[in-house]
Amino acid sequence: MNKHNNTFCSNTKKDVRSDSSDNQDNQNCFQEINERSFFFKSPSRCDFCIDPPKSSCNEKCKEERCKNFLTCHRVLKSIIRITTKCTQLCSHCAFEASPIENKFMKIKDAQDINLFCLNNGIFVISIMGGEFFCHPLWSQIIQILSNKMKFVRLVSNGDWASNKKITEQLINIMYKHPNIKISLSFDKWHTNQFINTAISICEKKDLNFDIECKSEGVENTIVPVGRAKYKSHFFSGVAKYCSSHRYTILIDERGTISYCPFGLWRYDCIQNFLNGGFSKRFKFVGETFRDAEIYSCNNCIRLFNKLGEEFEKDLDSC
Ligand code: SF4
Repeated sequence: MNKHNNTFCSNTKKDVRSDSSDNQDNQNCFQEINERSFFFKSPSRCDFCIDPPKSSCNEKCKEERCKNFLTCHRVLKSIIRITTKCTQLCSHCAFEASPIENKFMKIKDAQDINLFCLNNGIFVISIMGGEFFCHPLWSQIIQILSNKMKFVRLVSNGDWASNKKITEQLINIMYKHPNIKISLSFDKWHTNQFINTAISICEKKDLNFDIECKSEGVENTIVPVGRAKYKSHFFSGVAKYCSSHRYTILIDERGTISYCPFGLWRYDCIQNFLNGGFSKRFKFVGETFRDAEIYSCNNCIRLFNKLGEEFEKDLDSC
């Protein structure tokens, strides 16, 4: 496997820097990312497609010109986790995020992830944690990841609303980047302590936001991974969550790519595809899982407990 390309963006060796250098550094990095993504033509939807072929579907796909582009289930999407640190300790959290967790995405990895997305036809991303603002460099990281994306969903529990400075920073970023929509989790798993304040700030400031829809907050979206391990539900015994999210990958803080949106089956690193070429790998892994005799999440997790370590062993070089 290729190692990280350490020559990219030389001003990012320090991962923790003062706010005063942010703007200039971001400008330099955007310029460098944009230059490096300029020469690569995005792969077409067909390059990623793992659905059974339909007659003449290739000719009908309008790709980005389609009015349903952002909601099309065949558009490759990425969930990007920037930290495992959180303000809350929810019992359903697959990532086991908590106030004492300490995985943080580095600036260099955020730049690489953005380049990976641009050069591999990913323009729809969800940024999450943990809770995004627990990352000390959250404002830089979010802006880097959002560079040239068509749609960015920023998932949050709304606790930022208790802090004036963070709220102001967030409002500024959202005004500057209209491609970002904040998605507030408001369900029985979260404390919801500041959620009403967060909603009223979003309304008052006319921010682009939504409130997690009810169907996302109920048991049948719970996959028993991480802290939800003992929350097995009827759904996870009879269905595979990923079968309706086939075109969603998870990228973690280090740039590791998982097949499972909950972080199981890590199979490669973004650093191997900074200049494109991910579609083949995605298709191979997607088709393998699609055709494997895995009938439910519970079934899949049992298999992962047996084979996961062996499956993920090459990722140490990421
Ligand atoms: S079937 Fe496996 S890979 Fe798919 S969502 Fe469930 S646990 Fe994840």
